[in-house]
Formats: sequence, structure tokens, C-alpha cells
Amino acid sequence: MGRYTGPVCRICRREGLQLFLKGDRCFMAKCPIQTGRPPPGMHGQRRRKLSEYGVQLREKQRLRRIYGMQEGQFRLFFERALRRRGVTGEALLQMLEMRLDTVVRRLGFAPSQRAARQFVLHGHVRVNGRKTDVPSQLLKPGQVVEVRADEESREMARPHIENAAARGVPVWLSLNKDEFRGEVLRVPTRDEIAPIVNEQRVVELYSK
Ligand code: SF4
Repeated sequence: MGRYTGPVCRICRREGLQLFLKGDRCFMAKCPIQTGRPPPGMHGQRRRKLSEYGVQLREKQRLRRIYGMQEGQFRLFFERALRRRGVTGEALLQMLEMRLDTVVRRLGFAPSQRAARQFVLHGHVRVNGRKTDVPSQLLKPGQVVEVRADEESREMARPHIENAAARGVPVWLSLNKDEFRGEVLRVPTRDEIAPIVNEQRVVELYSK
């Protein structure tokens, strides 16, 4: 199945919560979730009781959509998390947060996950001074991520970086907004990871 290219607010309305897919506009009062718009479709307002499988599926879809991943790639990430030491759900979230496109978004070089992915794919980002165009690259503590030192790339990032700096970047990252540069200080703990999802449900779903 191809990448979804329709209206992204529809996805949030379907899931019934803010997934922050539209960047800076998600923080405005006219966000459809904030204004209370119902789920899409003729029967959107009808409340259905979900089966256990339904609950697990919704949780997985939320997480996958927050990080803009397709099913195959998301499943591969889960398989990798399964091989890590510790709690699988937490390892999965940590890996999703340590993706290059997620870090680019968290540092405010791009306003949304989708835009961050494009920003990386188009070669606007350097990791430890080296060109990279792989959004799914997993970063390690100590790695430095910066916007390419040319006017075009930095002009694209400038308004978003200001907004991100004003909102505050996560504590496991550091940002030097004047230098368009950030560093991964450490792997985030579960408490420091934003998505409001129950990752254990995702583990249950894939463990069937
Ligand atoms: Fe749209 Fe963003 Fe609100 Fe989601 S959080 S409904 S993408 S404005």
C-alpha cells in the first residue's frame, strides 16, 4: 500500500487525539481535535465498543502514524526492538525517537515528521559533518545533527527552529539555534517520550 497523501487532520480525527502531523499549525486553536470535530465518515460519531484486537490495532496505528511509517518498516523496527535487551515496548519507542527524521523534527529543523523526512531526503542535514539522506538512520548519543551550511537550507529551517526553541526541545537533546545544530545527549527514558500511546498493546498485537 502506498504512502497516505490525503488530509492529515483526518488521521487525527480517526484516532481521536492530536498526533501533531501538521507542524506549527497543530499548536493553534483551530486544530480540529481542539475544536471537537468528530471522527470522519457517515458513522464517525457512532461509538463502537472495540474488541481487544481492535484496541491493540488502534494503538499500533497511532504510533505508526505519529512517526509516519508504513506497515512493513514499522514491523521491521518492532523486530529489531524485540532483539534488544529490556522492555520491548520501551525499546521500540526509544528507537522511534532516535530516528534521524524524528530528531530533526524535535530539534525544529522541520515542522512535522513528514516535512522532516523530506528535509533529510533532500540532503539538507549533516550528521557529524557528513551528508546523509536516510531518514530512518538510528542516531547514537554524542552524534551532532546540523542543517547544511547554505542559505537555502537554513532559510527553510529558520522559522521552525525558532518555534521549537520557544516551545523547548526535549531534555535528551541540546540545540544551538544560532548554529542550526543539535546534539543527541542520551537515549530518552520512557517518561521523556511524548506520544500518548500504550506501547504494550503494540507488543501484544505483534506477539500473537
Ligand atoms: Fe490537524 Fe495537527 Fe490537529 Fe492533528 S494535531 S488534527 S494534524 S492540526
